[in-house]
Amino acid sequence: MHYISTRGSAPALDFEGATLAGLASDGGLYMPESWPRFSREDIAALAGLSYAETAVRVLAPFVGNALSEAELRGLCETAYGRFSHAAVTPLVQLDAQHWLLELFHGPTLAFKDVALQLLGLLFERFLTDSDSHLTVIGATSGDTGSAAIDALAGRDKVDIFMLHPKGRVSEVQRRQMTTVLAPNVHNIAIEGSFDDAQRLVKAMFGDAQFAGRFTLSAVNSINWARLAAQIVYYFYAAVRLGAPERKVAFSVPTGNFGDVFAGYAAAQMGLPVERLIVATNINDILHRAMVAGDYSVGELTPTAAPSMDIQVSSNFERLLFDMYDRDGEMLASVMRSFEQSRALRLDDRAHTRIGELFSSARIDNDAMALAMRQAAENMGEVIDPHTAIGLSAAMAADLPADIPVVTLATAHPAKFRDAVERATGHRPLLPPRVSGLFEREERYETLPGELQAVEAYIAERATES
Ligand SMILES: *Cc1c(COP(=O)(O)O)cnc(C)c1O
Repeated sequence: MHYISTRGSAPALDFEGATLAGLASDGGLYMPESWPRFSREDIAALAGLSYAETAVRVLAPFVGNALSEAELRGLCETAYGRFSHAAVTPLVQLDAQHWLLELFHGPTLAFKDVALQLLGLLFERFLTDSDSHLTVIGATSGDTGSAAIDALAGRDKVDIFMLHPKGRVSEVQRRQMTTVLAPNVHNIAIEGSFDDAQRLVKAMFGDAQFAGRFTLSAVNSINWARLAAQIVYYFYAAVRLGAPERKVAFSVPTGNFGDVFAGYAAAQMGLPVERLIVATNINDILHRAMVAGDYSVGELTPTAAPSMDIQVSSNFERLLFDMYDRDGEMLASVMRSFEQSRALRLDDRAHTRIGELFSSARIDNDAMALAMRQAAENMGEVIDPHTAIGLSAAMAADLPADIPVVTLATAHPAKFRDAVERATGHRPLLPPRVSGLFEREERYETLPGELQAVEAYIAERATES
């Protein structure tokens, strides 16, 4: 399997190359050159398989020759062996039609673990064959940072530098990052906002003199291997609810469009998906794109679901690539103009095609709190603010009664316990696997939001290539 850039001019890479590179050199994102197809028999044969074995079947065509099947199986068993639930991503039934797919049983309590635990092992495996040493630099509003640090701590040949906005992540999120004392983990609290941190990371990747000294890589969801790992749980859940005989709908709390794009990929591979519901909070660029074809950047408003407080959804470019018939040259010019004007109008054909599989909903803060309260009172389930947005959108969707609707539960409620307590009156307990978080020593460096200071700090500690 080869991977091509959405902007048409970067060289095609195999799975190993695309995994290590993250972003394509022409500024685009890597996509499989074609979607692998699973027949009805292939899908039916997934019934009863463990999560790790389902992952091997679903990922094998994407991995191609980069790993043997036995190696892939070994990595999947190690990655998913670290989850605290035997089903890895269990389904919980809420009522006759609605289900939660719990994706938060990994080490850091958010769904990002599902992909990053595997990505950490892939990095290590691909680097053992080579002389390179990877320098991972990322910015986080909380969940990606802790999941990436857990996945990469102590691994050979990888250093990770994670920037978070000082004082603007929750205490649980900060401690999940800063109490990891492995020597290859470097936490930096930036004096500024998440956008400032993200801008610094982009500037470092774009600074040829700095970037040229290291082999830089990215762990956010622009990395194709992350999305590939997320396709697995769409198959796993749908098969348990009757696929391939029965179609299933998914409601996905969305920020960077990574998780829901994995659902789109599953549908392209032959999984019978009735609908993908894009659930946004009041930062609703994707909802506006879905209903009116208006993908224009608005003002960012912080909410109790911070992992969805995003204005530009990087992975939307991957969907546009397919909608524009994979014309990379044309998409490169569309994206260049979007980067200038901060606005993009979908043409009628692309807009109509998107509407064939996707719908969307914008859930405001009151509806989010109401969904948390109703889930607790009527269904006996304490859910986090992100999941609440997905569930509220699922409940509002007008789907036939015989279609199961699965809401992706993306974070453990204890990770956002202040917001959950405000909405429901219950303060969720941290599960035993993260207890002790408040007693452990923290280590991080506070730096001003200035490129020079951050580059100097990293250059002193990273391994040159
Ligand atoms: C990252 C995250 C999301 C959004 O996922 P995307 O792939 O960015 O759309 C939703 N909920 C939680 C808890 C997250 O950590």
